[in-house]
Amino acid sequence: MFDYVVVGAGFAGAVIAERIATQLNEKVLVIEKRNHIGGNAYDYYDENGILVHKYGPHIFHTRSREVWDYLSQFTDWHLYHHHVLGSIDGKKVPIPFNLNTLHELLPESFARPLEEKLVSKFGYNVKVPILKLRETDDKDLKFLADFVYEKVFLNYTTKQWGMKPEELDPTVTGRVPVYISRDNRYFQDAYQGMPKEGYTKIFEKLLSHSNIKLMLNTDYKEVIDIDVKNGKISLFGQEFKGILVYTGKIDEFFNYEFGDLPYRSLRFEFENIQKEFVQPVGTINYPNEYQFTRITEFKHLTGQEHSSTTIVKEYPQGYERNVKGKDIPYYPIPKKENLELYARYKERARQFPHVFFVGRLAEYRYYDMDAVIARALTVFNNKILR
Ligand code: FAD
Ligand code: UDP
Repeated sequence: MFDYVVVGAGFAGAVIAERIATQLNEKVLVIEKRNHIGGNAYDYYDENGILVHKYGPHIFHTRSREVWDYLSQFTDWHLYHHHVLGSIDGKKVPIPFNLNTLHELLPESFARPLEEKLVSKFGYNVKVPILKLRETDDKDLKFLADFVYEKVFLNYTTKQWGMKPEELDPTVTGRVPVYISRDNRYFQDAYQGMPKEGYTKIFEKLLSHSNIKLMLNTDYKEVIDIDVKNGKISLFGQEFKGILVYTGKIDEFFNYEFGDLPYRSLRFEFENIQKEFVQPVGTINYPNEYQFTRITEFKHLTGQEHSSTTIVKEYPQGYERNVKGKDIPYYPIPKKENLELYARYKERARQFPHVFFVGRLAEYRYYDMDAVIARALTVFNNKILR
């Protein structure tokens, strides 16, 4: 039998399993309901031979040297800095909105004084979330803030989340702040890149240890019984007193006893085109046109050379856990009442001191990959390693 069990083979689960197997030298059972490892970072070669990301485009970026060094044990890097353009007023302009975007969209007689005002009020090389910029009482900056809000954020956010920017936690639109700079990159983190052989290869390495037993195609409920009333767990019908690392949805763990935590889902449309490239950069956002939010062309990200190219369009949709095609919980929805509901589940989890809830679904947090890895390492070091 196992003393360590991990539910989910995404970054949260795979990193902790690797640490248990390697550093603790203990056997660990990893249970994954999908037919593959990697969670939402899973990539594969499509029928045309192009490396694509099944659950949406993933670009690795972090400020953390520790996370970068940890992951670099399992991959070499294709050095890549992500560039995004937005289709706005018939032009393709840099996103996040920066000083270059300002000069491309507005006439010089407007843009120059606005640039001066921005720099004198906030400074140069400063990021200002759009909702913060809109609070300004300067009439010219308010004009600019409303312009950016309407052209970049309002319709994109309404498509993506089914609500307006101000209805969501400000950290959501704060991910893509107005950047008072001429830097056109999407991220400014010190460490950025794409895994040279793809993400799935990283997971193969993380999980290839002889101490790790992997069960794919298995919902944890097929082998684990959680007695939420009495705080007891059984594995394969026998009482389990070891450590369980749970990276699935926390509301599912508790049989939705306080109600469902809401999520947003996506539908992806992939297309292969017999051209070397179809767009100038990795991603083009379409805030105000079409039903999809953005188109990503994978070869820009991965650096793969091929005579054809594959793109993906992202169509946002509501999440419904029992409806096929809508049943993948891609995004927790950070807003007050949802975070309050999550807090009730988190409190409830105290009844299970040997279960660690880690990751985007288990903590209901809009984590990027690097944050999940950092969190997994912290949980391992502080709670599992003794
Ligand atoms: P997951 O990857 O979701 O893994 C959880 C695993 O648990 C899954 O494999 C799931 O099948 C399994 N599981 C769930 N329930 C059960 C069950 N009942 N039984 C057994 N197994 C179960 N991050 C970045 O850093 N850069 C990006 O560019 C980026 N782009 C993204 C684009 C999109 C469209 C999305 C949705 C996310 C993006 N992310 C990006 C975020 C990234 O996907 C997450 O940070 C990361 O995948 C979270 O890892 P995780 O292990 O917490 O969750
Ligand atoms: N956003 C927007 N317009 C854009 C880019 C982003 O309104 O052109 C908002 C939108 O609400 C989006 C959020 O900022 O969901 C975060 O964007 P990010 O690119 O970080 O989203 P992710 O890659 O996580 O889907």
